[in-house]
Amino acid sequence: MIKKILPGLLSLLCLTFFSLEALSAQVKPDITLKGVITGSENNSYVEAPFTVPDGIVSITVTFHYTGKEQHTALDLGLFDPERFRGWSGGNKDHFTVSTTSATPSYLPGPLPAGQWKLIIGVPNIRETVTSNYEANIFFTREKSTPTSFADAPLRDGPAWYRGDLHIHTAHSDGSCQSQSGKKVPCPVFLTAETASARGLDFIAVTDHNTDSHYDALRELQPYFDKLLFIPGREITTFWGHANLFGPTDFVDFRVGTTVPSAQMLFEEAARMHAILSINHPNAPTGQVCMGCGWTPKEAVDPHLIQSIEAVNGGAEEGQYSGISFWEKYLNQGYRITAIGGSDNHNAPAPAGSRSAIGSPTTVIYADNLSVPAILDGIRKGHVFIDLSATRDRRFEIAAEDGNQKGIMGDALPAPAGSTVQISAHVVACSGNKLRFLLDGQPVASLDSNISQADQGISLTLPSDGKKHWLRPDVVSPEGKLILLGNPIYLNYTEDKK
Ligand SMILES: [Zn+2]
Ligand SMILES: [Zn+2]
Repeated sequence: MIKKILPGLLSLLCLTFFSLEALSAQVKPDITLKGVITGSENNSYVEAPFTVPDGIVSITVTFHYTGKEQHTALDLGLFDPERFRGWSGGNKDHFTVSTTSATPSYLPGPLPAGQWKLIIGVPNIRETVTSNYEANIFFTREKSTPTSFADAPLRDGPAWYRGDLHIHTAHSDGSCQSQSGKKVPCPVFLTAETASARGLDFIAVTDHNTDSHYDALRELQPYFDKLLFIPGREITTFWGHANLFGPTDFVDFRVGTTVPSAQMLFEEAARMHAILSINHPNAPTGQVCMGCGWTPKEAVDPHLIQSIEAVNGGAEEGQYSGISFWEKYLNQGYRITAIGGSDNHNAPAPAGSRSAIGSPTTVIYADNLSVPAILDGIRKGHVFIDLSATRDRRFEIAAEDGNQKGIMGDALPAPAGSTVQISAHVVACSGNKLRFLLDGQPVASLDSNISQADQGISLTLPSDGKKHWLRPDVVSPEGKLILLGNPIYLNYTEDKK
């Protein structure tokens, strides 16, 4: 029975996707309630109390009973010490309530310590029948990440997955037109529908500082079983914005008041195994956009910065683009992943318009379509950005030196005097040009015209044995950026943090 419910627990308990066998050994319920319902209890409500200790951040209940073949039906509901928390009747055999979200039928909110009660409703049990029930209760005690709203990966297997990592909804300043044409806060489901219609595999709804959108996402995820929701929010300070991916727990954003420095935010993100990605770092800060540029009072240790939004939907190129900010860190020797985000504030905005959902698209090579795997792909730098928001452009770069191989984001030893073999696979980019930057400088010998819809290109680069970052782009004949690739890091010996 445990094995049957474990896939659901993978996400509910904020665990990464281990094998079922591994989980069976690791996940033990904190409390098991067993009881017997008899025929005399037909059409009544039975209480099953249990004690919730201090410091719990989510509670998952699984519920099973015998006698279904004899038409026994048991319903389920929940009270905390102070209030009613929901009723799922006979429609769910497991549910989660946490401070920020809950399985539909149940209410999120504080989880006070004390005596809670499962309410077991008995709509039908025959007079001579008995039914054994078992409720397993699992507590999550610590802020943990990644959280997921999906019970299991939405798609198995390694692939390039396409998504948008920066979107606003009614839970912050996202707006759209109502049925009668009024400007109204734009509901989350329109964001999901639009992203799905554009063929995206994942999105992060990143409303400003709040955690109120997670409950909507938990409701929507089972329906959108081809579109993964990455838990996100835009930590919005007076000296810069940064998207936090992974956790759903409250994270204090009040830099300068209750949080001493931006550095502390990054330390907290690291502690939570989250990704905190600096947004639109070169945006102007002013009365139109308070704190939009990245200007912390004290510099953040770059080792803690895992990701930078190099391409924001409002500023793909030009002075406000984040690419120069990112490359400055690359030139200092850091390995930081460039990602993109539309910063959409109006879900139905047509494809191709500025900041439309999916413009730009961030494309991530991940082991499967799950929150842990997508975040892992970002950490590894296995990422390119499709500025034109197509559904089909592919950009695979691999480099090889001796027996060692790497793709975008990887480090590759390249001893002095050796030759780095570069292979590119570019799809749907005909008529454009592949180019490479070595430490930010163009390498003319690696320029290649792309003339086929699906083209492989082989190149070589002699190595001087020194540390370099080598980054590919696809640009139009006019020099407009179409695809931005993350670097391959030559002769970087230290591990990526
Ligand atoms: Zn912002
Ligand atoms: Zn934003």
